[in-house]
Amino acid sequence: MEDLKPLLDSYTAGPIIIAGPCSAESRRQVMQTAAALAAGGVRIFRAGVWKPRTKPGGFEGAGEQALGWLAEVRRTTGMYIATEVATGRHAELALKAGIDILWLGARTSSSPFAVQEIADALSGSDAAVLVKNPVSPDLELWSGALERIYNRGIRRLAAVHRGFSLYETGIYRNDPHWSVPVMLRRRYPSLPVLCDPSHIGGRREAVAQLSQQALDLGFDGLIIESHISPGEALSDAAQQLTPDELLRLTSTLKVRGESRDDMPITEMRAEIDSLDDELLALLSRRMEVSGRIGEYKRRHGIKILQPERYDELLSSRSAHGLKLGLDVKFVREILRIIHEESIRRQM
Ligand code: PEP
Ligand code: MN
Repeated sequence: MEDLKPLLDSYTAGPIIIAGPCSAESRRQVMQTAAALAAGGVRIFRAGVWKPRTKPGGFEGAGEQALGWLAEVRRTTGMYIATEVATGRHAELALKAGIDILWLGARTSSSPFAVQEIADALSGSDAAVLVKNPVSPDLELWSGALERIYNRGIRRLAAVHRGFSLYETGIYRNDPHWSVPVMLRRRYPSLPVLCDPSHIGGRREAVAQLSQQALDLGFDGLIIESHISPGEALSDAAQQLTPDELLRLTSTLKVRGESRDDMPITEMRAEIDSLDDELLALLSRRMEVSGRIGEYKRRHGIKILQPERYDELLSSRSAHGLKLGLDVKFVREILRIIHEESIRRQM
């Protein structure tokens, strides 16, 4: 991917900021959100017109009519407009409506047939396309989706990191697993990579920190969900910011002067940060199970401390730790502290 064009010809200064609601719900909601964001200087507006939902029964988007609302945003505010396409037909309709940026969502980029169908529909157009990572941390699947689009002549291309689904969620809705987008960037040095902190975090309080973390890692921009009245949003209510909150957030972001070559330390620190978050989430879950065991012991009159169980736990975990390359003394010390805390809770 050597011959990529800028995502948008007239977008130059600073990180690319795309903002707007998860879903276009009504003309009024779209216009009010867009007007507030445009007044604060946001230049690219996002809104989902077709919403792929994990489970049936949720709001699946206002559909084709909402393309008209987006076109109106473009006309009245001058913002570029972006929406998600999940089928070849969506792509055709979006191109016809003059959508500037089309994105493939995580559920779509997981499916090579869907991606190919969209790529075929886009062939010959000068549209900008964003490819979100697939739901699983599969670098090849993500690269493959980007290549399918690129191979149909699309040169305004960027990737979006929105985190990965886990069976057990930790502090975030989707695990950031930063090393995957970092590897993608190493593979395609000229490909812009944006971050979607809203879908990683899953709650509005997490968005600011994730946004700064992404910029520290050298991401080229952010796509953030913003709704005029987040509490009433028909999808992703917990993670959307009001336009005011969003503008406050973007005004506090710091962009470092580092080049991609200076990134390794920042990248590794971000990886450590996310591993520490996972460790803490695991410890909290372990303590919660301990608490339940304590409750059971109390109800059945079983004594809290059972030395055989502790001995067995120590030796099996030490052996396992050794296999993972961990020092036995280190593993025993950690287990001792965890065990102490468990007992304290059970008392
Ligand atoms: C979205 O952007 O609203 C969306 C559905 O995102 P994702 O595909 O990342 O889940
Ligand atoms: Mn969303």
